[in-house]
Amino acid sequence: RAKSDGRDGTRAFAEDMDKKARAITVLDSDMRRALAKKELVLHYQPQVNLASGRIVGAEALVRWRKDNGDLVSPADFLPQAEESGLIVPISEWVLNEACREAASWTRDGLPPLRVAVNLSAIQFRKQNVEQVVLAALAASGLESGRLELELTESILLHDTERVVHSLRALQAHGVTFSIDDFGTGYSSLSYVRNFPVNRLKIDRSFIHNLREDGNDVAIVRAIVNLGHSLNLDVIAEGVETAAQVGHLRAEGCDEVQGFYFGRPMPAADFIDLVRREAVVAQTA
Ligand code: C2E
Ligand code: MG
Ligand code: MG
Ligand code: MG
Repeated sequence: RAKSDGRDGTRAFAEDMDKKARAITVLDSDMRRALAKKELVLHYQPQVNLASGRIVGAEALVRWRKDNGDLVSPADFLPQAEESGLIVPISEWVLNEACREAASWTRDGLPPLRVAVNLSAIQFRKQNVEQVVLAALAASGLESGRLELELTESILLHDTERVVHSLRALQAHGVTFSIDDFGTGYSSLSYVRNFPVNRLKIDRSFIHNLREDGNDVAIVRAIVNLGHSLNLDVIAEGVETAAQVGHLRAEGCDEVQGFYFGRPMPAADFIDLVRREAVVAQTA
């Protein structure tokens, strides 16, 4: 009995692995096609300065628009793209598209907003990030000071020398950096010391229960104070309520991003939002 259970178990396991492997292969070739057929799109989520109340930038977030109209979220395809290495061409596309679109906004009369692009650790391992970024800036004509690159712990954790070198080179060109999901993970404090960052992005998990949870209040205060004493700006992500905005303002947080101000949206909607805001400011 035990023996046959074991065999069945093994077979079930093997079949399961096989199914998974097939699913991954299908996703992989689907993603290759998506890139070739230009099925990727960027949505932009506004970033708002708390002192002025104005939109000062946007984070570019990739989506996959399938030919059946479905919009696939990055969480459902980026992990696999990282595994297969497809993240490299995808990221390069994202970077170029974000720079190109942001450069076109100013030509359409919008103020020189910042655009934030997420980087993946795999890029640093597989390509010369410095060259790729400079090429995207040159091709788009975007002023380098308008590009911010969001770094995660997985980037800052490995191959430190090389990453620091690339970041410093880009910083010398005027590109800025933020640490994404700040406060989660291991040794955030050493990152702040070792890497040329300009901004901390408080992870949304700390914002979620901000009103009720005393620990989160303390953590947010600590991150804002840490950032400011190191001359860094601080932005909170995942801001969903007016109460959270009030709290973050009271704590001296510089900027906010979250559903309260706008979900990630197509570029055309983002442009409309900035234009409407400008009209409101003029008539106010
Ligand atoms: P992230 O960089 O931390 O981006 C913020 C995520 O939080 C976005 O999810 C955004 O839609 C979501 N969000 C924003 N405001 C709120 C809010 O008020 N409440 C809640 N509950 N969520 C909010 P999204 O677009 O699904 O992206 C998920 C993650 O995928 C991103 O997290 C980022 O790590 C990654 N990602 C997205 N686009 C790219 C990309 O082009 N390249 C790379 N390497 N990663 C990307
Ligand atoms: Mg991000
Ligand atoms: Mg984030
Ligand atoms: Mg996050």
